[in-house]
Amino acid sequence: MTHIETLAARAGGEPDRNSGAVAPSIVPSTTFLRDADGSYPGGHVYSRMSNPNRDAWEECVAELEGGACGAAFASGLAACSAVMDALRPGERAVVSSDLYFGFRQQLLRIAGPRGVRIEFVDATDAAALGDAMASPAALLWIETPSNPLLRIADIPRAAHLAHQAGALLVCDNTWATPVLTRPFEHGADLVVHSASKYLAGHGDVIGGVVVAKRADGFITRVREIQVLGGAVPSPFDCWLALRGVRTLPLRVRAQCASAARIAAAIAGHPSVAIVHYPGLSTHPGHETAAAQMSAFGGMLSFEMRDGRDAALAVAAGLRLFTQATSLGGFESLVEHRASQEGPDSPTPQGLLRISVGLEHPDDLLADLLGTLDAQDG
Ligand SMILES: *Cc1c(COP(=O)(O)O)cnc(C)c1O
Repeated sequence: MTHIETLAARAGGEPDRNSGAVAPSIVPSTTFLRDADGSYPGGHVYSRMSNPNRDAWEECVAELEGGACGAAFASGLAACSAVMDALRPGERAVVSSDLYFGFRQQLLRIAGPRGVRIEFVDATDAAALGDAMASPAALLWIETPSNPLLRIADIPRAAHLAHQAGALLVCDNTWATPVLTRPFEHGADLVVHSASKYLAGHGDVIGGVVVAKRADGFITRVREIQVLGGAVPSPFDCWLALRGVRTLPLRVRAQCASAARIAAAIAGHPSVAIVHYPGLSTHPGHETAAAQMSAFGGMLSFEMRDGRDAALAVAAGLRLFTQATSLGGFESLVEHRASQEGPDSPTPQGLLRISVGLEHPDDLLADLLGTLDAQDG
């Protein structure tokens, strides 16, 4: 297999034969020329249906994941929604309970009321997952590492149980990225991404992608929903996302190394009750993560011993971690998830989530340890 660095640098990028341009052009045109014989010489008709920038972006992500094909959307949630829209009323979807909060809301407010039977399960609990998959289902949806507790679901086990129940295994690979986890090699059938995070990587694009292992009826339906539902990304966003992906493996590896250092350094701090990072040998999912991830990711969360007020004070005191939601960009971010998610949030009040960026780890550590020390004193 071609290495991921090579795919990230080259997939979806061919010099333009007409102009000779090596960097891709942005094609904002909504519509495309039709020949006298009725054919479309450029292969495109109308940009909601397809567009050169979207084609390149979809091809690139599909190649990165080792899938057959991809469908790009205007956001990660639009990608999730297209998968759920492909289910019929009455069909059953089993979904991991520690989940991106917005997707949970989408399931409860849109897919559920539309008649899809949503059932949440702790996907890290083998017995609970086995029970849930003992009856037929259309899909099993996992997120690993999960948000915000960094729980690790065992992908081969989930695939085995899903397939026994006649279900597709969908893996939200936003946090791990194809650099760290290759869900298709572990048995997943579909991968979804919020490209707004690591893939695009610069905090300036909202986008999502569904990638399928096989070019079968399900992804054909997802593509139909993409074109007829119309939640497509703009050519400029596809261009930006593709540009971001060129450096994905380098960014993610640097972020993993810094996150590992930070997790180890704050784990023993007297103000910190617990650090959630799968790279720590004390993390309950450490061994599973070691088996299915090539490194442990650039995300971590930790809980302050003194709860909510201490967490809010640390978030406000940090200088090199911008207090903002989202993750996966070049800049480090810190977030108090419970107040971001609102009163329905199941997230512990003392928890802070960190997205480690590309600043020097010594500088990040000095900022974080200094701020934690100030809490202590
Ligand atoms: C952000 C995120 C989403 C939603 O993506 P948007 O691009 O914000 O719509 C879905 N899943 C995970 C794991 C995420 O982090």
